[in-house]
Amino acid sequence: VTVERPGPAAAAVEAADGIRVVGARENNLKDVSLTIPKNKITVFTGVSGSGKSSIVFDTIGVEAQRQLNGTFPAFIRNQLPKYERPQADAIENLTAPVVVDQKPVGGNARSTVGTMTDIYSVIRALFARHGSPTDGLVSTYSFNDPKGMCPECDGLGQAVRADPDLMFDKAKSLNEGAILLPNYGVGSADWQLYANSGRLDPDKPLKDYTAEEWELFTRGSGFKVQLNVKSGSYKTNYEGVIDRFTRLGVKRDLSTVSERTREQIQRFISEGTCSACDGARLNPAALATKIDGRNIADWSRMQISDLIQVLGAIDDPVATPIAEAARTALARVEAIGLGYLSLDRATATLSGGESQRLKLVRHLGSTLTGMTYIFDEPSVGLHPRDVGRLNTLLRALRDQGNTVIVVEHDPDVIQIADHVVDVGPKAGAHGGEIVFEGDVAGLRAAETLTGEGLRRAVRGKETYREPTGALAITGASLHNLKNVSVDVPTGVLTAVTGVAGSGKSSLIAEVFVKAHPETIFVDQSAIAASSRSTPATYLGLMDPIRNLFAKATGAAAGLFSFNSEGACEECQGRGVIITELAYMDPVTTHCDVCDGRRFKDAVLEHKLRGKSIADVLELSAEDAVAFFTEAPLRRKLRPLVEVGLDYLSLGQPLSTLSGGERQRIKLATQLGRTGGVYVLDEPTTGLHMSDIDTLLALLDGLVDKGNTVVLIEHNLDVVQQADWVIDLGPDGGKAGGEIVFTGTPRDLLNSAESLTGEYLRRYRA
Ligand code: ADP
Ligand code: ADP
Ligand code: ZN
Ligand code: ZN
Repeated sequence: VTVERPGPAAAAVEAADGIRVVGARENNLKDVSLTIPKNKITVFTGVSGSGKSSIVFDTIGVEAQRQLNGTFPAFIRNQLPKYERPQADAIENLTAPVVVDQKPVGGNARSTVGTMTDIYSVIRALFARHGSPTDGLVSTYSFNDPKGMCPECDGLGQAVRADPDLMFDKAKSLNEGAILLPNYGVGSADWQLYANSGRLDPDKPLKDYTAEEWELFTRGSGFKVQLNVKSGSYKTNYEGVIDRFTRLGVKRDLSTVSERTREQIQRFISEGTCSACDGARLNPAALATKIDGRNIADWSRMQISDLIQVLGAIDDPVATPIAEAARTALARVEAIGLGYLSLDRATATLSGGESQRLKLVRHLGSTLTGMTYIFDEPSVGLHPRDVGRLNTLLRALRDQGNTVIVVEHDPDVIQIADHVVDVGPKAGAHGGEIVFEGDVAGLRAAETLTGEGLRRAVRGKETYREPTGALAITGASLHNLKNVSVDVPTGVLTAVTGVAGSGKSSLIAEVFVKAHPETIFVDQSAIAASSRSTPATYLGLMDPIRNLFAKATGAAAGLFSFNSEGACEECQGRGVIITELAYMDPVTTHCDVCDGRRFKDAVLEHKLRGKSIADVLELSAEDAVAFFTEAPLRRKLRPLVEVGLDYLSLGQPLSTLSGGERQRIKLATQLGRTGGVYVLDEPTTGLHMSDIDTLLALLDGLVDKGNTVVLIEHNLDVVQQADWVIDLGPDGGKAGGEIVFTGTPRDLLNSAESLTGEYLRRYRA
């Protein structure tokens, strides 16, 4: 590998003008120094694990945030998260940072696409002006304001309710014990309320009740019933069983009852659309105001691309300026390829890529200049068609006078860079250096893995595997799917393609996975694990490693655990001190006592073949395979290498893994099966062109072992290596949800209807 630096373009960068980093050493960085030009787009490239994030997020992003916080008065500063100074000799000439990452927007049920982008408040203003003058208060239309919210569900649109399907066995009569609720057993006082009512036949199965009988049984009131109990008999008011259970069970403050009672009650409750507002979140007064026959909930439910049209039709001197403001903001959402969303969509249901693009929208309207925007693989989830639109927006940010830094693998995004920094040469300990700096033309000629990747010829596949059978999807209609029936072939590699919002996840990650429960779904979501989880604990390596240490040193195995005896007392084995703050993310600082190594000093004196337990946890998977001669350990380690995580250290907290890395580590625990069905959602996320070959080899290996592999994927290199393609579309949202094409990649090239086919043709041209 030739290290080319400083390249001619880098030399042209006026040192005084750029962001300067000197001697950076976070994670695997080897004393990295570089200058990033301001008011330009700089793209960071390099294989997964090479150190891109360590420079961009952990060094530049953290220091910029830290310096920015330092500009606030002390009383505000104390409320802000504390950032530790990154390990570097100098980081200078920074501007205010905006980190636009893929962290999900959040699980808050009150956050919607409309509230997050602030577009909902513009629509509210429109209703306040345009609606009747009596309800002129904007907050009336807010579901987060008691004056506007539906009182039944407190503005959540969802409510817990007594669920009749869970409460009754409708095939039975009252005498046969049709009421399944506890305390309503045959003969009990609660049961007599219905059986003795004189208006319901206790021998008639519930399923045979007339509509009137059912209404009386569940909701009736207004008469008395004679009950006979041990102590005598008495008359009491009748109350329908659903009303009664709602009053005494569902509406009861469950924090006051025993665990056992709570569990019993919860067995008969389910969450569903609030019946009072039908999911609209607002109270009847707010829903009564209409514009062009639609209330504000109808507007929020509309697909954004349609809402833009409706707003354009508003012709009213007072309302038009507000409608225009809303249209401008909505047009930005559409421009970034999210026109298929609606304002009422809960942000908790958005994918990482959708979340990131929506965060970007918030900044596009901003007139602030001189900021540093930092993006993490913004092309994730985007079809090649939409990458062009993303590029336009990144350029617009730059042209407003901002510095734009992007970590990216997609050649179509890399090509808009004014300046490229290629990190490598490889991953982990074999990376952490800058192997190229300069312009895109220079990168294409560079002797680095990225240069090679950009130069390599596009290869199609000669022969496709024959399916061994098929798994059917019939009549799928979830979300935008239009009664989709399609066969997923078994024994082959299938790519499911289509623009964002076309319905790929709905069809595959939801309908298909649910219909075929044996399916192994490997996604990028957080691993349900404690802050103490590491690759070593996740793969079950800790017990055998501790036993090896115990055998070699004569000390108890428990000593070699940072979860118990062996733990550093200062940080309880976390390696960091975590300070909880009210209303804030907790703050994490380095533990100086163990220097982040998690163990007591005494533990580290015990060595296995010259290494302490902390040394072993710092080994990369690749080095661990070389260090351990024991077959069972090597067997557990090998999958990590096979999924391309050879650079990951055994003790790195799982919480620091990226989405793509999380997906690959999950996959590592699932290898070695035969006859399984694997579904992966965009497995190329975070992968360099050269890593993709490793991934494809792994997936091909799985198929050759008799498994079925289904990928939701945009990467055209991967699509053309599939045996079969299922293409959804033609577009996103309402305009999608249909099968546009099924067949081999070769036939896809000839499809006139498929957008994916069109982009594959361009790619190969
Ligand atoms: P990239 O962004 O190029 O994929 P990273 O900067 O995330 O690479 O990682 C570079 C190296 O540093 C990898 O070996 C990775 O495992 C390691 N690393 C990243 N984050 C942490 C962390 N929080 N703790 C320890 N090691 C880390
Ligand atoms: P893709 O995976 O192709 O990007 P999706 O299956 O995520 O497409 O989305 C298809 C359609 O279904 C879009 O209009 C999207 O807004 C809608 N949709 C997806 N998930 C949800 C959800 N949880 N709630 C409501 N609508 C959804
Ligand atoms: Zn409601
Ligand atoms: Zn410690």
